[in-house]
Amino acid sequence: MNSTTSSLPSSGGDPDRLRLAVQKKGRLADDTFELLRQCGLKVSQSRTRLYARVEGLPIDLLLVRDDDIPALVAGGASDVGIVGGNVFEEVRLAAGGTFPAKTVQALGFSKCRLCIAVPKEMAYDGAASLNGFRVATSYAQLTQDWLSKAQVKNAKTVNMNGAHELAPRLGVAEAICDIVSTGATLEANGLKVAETIFESEALLIGAEALPEAKMTILEALLGRIRGVMRSQNAKYVMMNAPRAAIDAIGEVLPGAEAPTVLDLAGDSSKVAIHAVCNEEVLWEQLADLKALGATAILVLDIDKMLA
Ligand code: ATP
Ligand code: ZN
Repeated sequence: MNSTTSSLPSSGGDPDRLRLAVQKKGRLADDTFELLRQCGLKVSQSRTRLYARVEGLPIDLLLVRDDDIPALVAGGASDVGIVGGNVFEEVRLAAGGTFPAKTVQALGFSKCRLCIAVPKEMAYDGAASLNGFRVATSYAQLTQDWLSKAQVKNAKTVNMNGAHELAPRLGVAEAICDIVSTGATLEANGLKVAETIFESEALLIGAEALPEAKMTILEALLGRIRGVMRSQNAKYVMMNAPRAAIDAIGEVLPGAEAPTVLDLAGDSSKVAIHAVCNEEVLWEQLADLKALGATAILVLDIDKMLA
């Protein structure tokens, strides 16, 4: 413990360096360090410590458990932090709505859903089916908040920090509320999703106000993060389509500038349309394109982009 804390400057730290709290190890950590790498930042010390310097921008990292990040930022020990929206919202609700930290930028990774799940054989028919249930969860605030908004009566939460899926079989609860990614764990434990109560992604959170020098560093970091996110989502979309649908297709393509329209040899009623989409291209949008008569739709990753 001493060897790790000894390198941590006292609270407040260097006024010319921005403190960023990140998860030391876990599902957020890898994507967070990958984002920092893509932003051209190099972590110059071993991740086994509590504290690390970054090369490339004047930033110091606090390497902590994700659950501690909102309070570290709200309490001023860290200027900014990267944390799951699920954890941030849970801590914010627990604080009763007045929490001195805010979302600076949603980061688009570590996406997951917080779901209420019930035994597979149960006939689930809307929120009222949960009346009188005990719900095992480590997200008591988010769960309670949803239960009361959904007007579920006499339900209560049972705190559990792991192995929620076992709770119904152990007779501890009738339902659970936990993070679901594929649903395979639920399935294996005889459970099914009843409700999605929260959609989460990693967030860059920050103190309500920062001194000017730190604000300047944060702006530089944000500029790089937004640049990385833009090129990650950008796709090159190609398709063949009826000439008459060119305008309608342009409206469906997310964040696209004027598309390139090319004649197709031997068929004057159809054209090839190529476009760079600067936003995520969703399956629903591909279905819309298809409905407009587009065929042979290709969505390609873009390696590098110079606007
Ligand atoms: P710590 O030891 O830091 O407390 P933890 O065990 O609480 O870690 P992790 O399992 O590493 O937490 O998850 C951290 C965050 O990653 C979650 O709060 C959530 O925002 C996100 N996350 C969790 N599961 C998934 C998943 N399956 N897919 C994507 N993101 C996820
Ligand atoms: Zn945690």
